[in-house]
Amino acid sequence: MPDSPLPKKFLRLLKARLPHMLATLRRFVTAESSSLEKAAADRCCGVIAEEWRKHGGRMERIAQKHRGDILRITHARDKSRPSGQLLVLGHYDTVYSTGTLARMPFRVEGDKAYGPGIFDMKAGIVQALFALQALQQTETPLRKRLVFLWTSDEEIGSEASRKLLEAEARRSDAVFVLEPSFGPRGLLKTARKGVGEAKLIVHGRASHAGLAPQEGINAIHELARQLARIEGWNDFRRGVTINAGLIEGGTRTNVIPERARAVLDLRALRVSDMRNLERRLQALRPFHRGARLEITGGFDRPPLERKMSAALFARAESLAKQMNLSLGECTVGGGSDGNFTAALGIPTLDGLGAAGDGAHSRREHILINTMPQRAALLAALLATN
Ligand SMILES: [Zn+2]
Repeated sequence: MPDSPLPKKFLRLLKARLPHMLATLRRFVTAESSSLEKAAADRCCGVIAEEWRKHGGRMERIAQKHRGDILRITHARDKSRPSGQLLVLGHYDTVYSTGTLARMPFRVEGDKAYGPGIFDMKAGIVQALFALQALQQTETPLRKRLVFLWTSDEEIGSEASRKLLEAEARRSDAVFVLEPSFGPRGLLKTARKGVGEAKLIVHGRASHAGLAPQEGINAIHELARQLARIEGWNDFRRGVTINAGLIEGGTRTNVIPERARAVLDLRALRVSDMRNLERRLQALRPFHRGARLEITGGFDRPPLERKMSAALFARAESLAKQMNLSLGECTVGGGSDGNFTAALGIPTLDGLGAAGDGAHSRREHILINTMPQRAALLAALLATN
């Protein structure tokens, strides 16, 4: 690919727009939008829609019953007859309930801006908006239709939006996810672990611990042995982890417990490891002949394997170089909606959003000066893919 002056042009333009980016970010962050509060989320959806409406395109507000409405904005140049589609994906819901803003106001301190959901991931939505603006102002021809999809329940598992975002991804040639990047250097997330949850329930037989111990089947003892076996499945080097995060069982000390239960967190970097882990769980057999095991659940989000990001990352790296920026990548243990789109076989590049730190905490912030760079990178990716 010949060196194009585009990324530099975008960057110059966007640097001058930084005060406007920050003002827009303030509007988005001060509209609180907990995943669990539909009325508040809908208000935030309205604020975001209002900003995007200024830039044309076809806007659809897709009504949701229990969660905030989903926003879909489609851009295509009339005459260029774009074939194919690029999907820019993100969520505007946050983990913070309404009122958090009073304790954790939007504020700028030095080169950082703070506020609930600013990093994860309202700054990403702002960067996408200004990337679009840069494409428009430079009259860059679009090769493909652009679809921006802003969902409202990513932080609680994307149950309501999953079908829609998967349908949109299937129509797309690539997906760009505006989730936060990693670390102060803004590493892209080119691999994400798949994440799941399973319940292991042991059914034993109750009995008097003193009068008839031989008649009981101790569900807690059985569960403990199962957990010791499961612990051995951890393989940190391969990125396979299984964590019993919750256990319960029994009623009182002189009763042989009839029931015990563990809830397990499951993670894997590879689809094959995910399947293997699920298979092993289903194949568990009781140590005690009279006990019965019940296993439910499994992986909710499949892994985002690096091979689904590799080509897009190489492109991003070379575009960043044209702005004299070095771009890095990393693997993370947590999932995002990018896991769903990659699992469909659609090339997916994640972590394109803000640079900053402290997601889901009081110190959540972004690095202000990186916003124009990140927006320019996205604009360049949208123009050249
Ligand atoms: Zn997020």
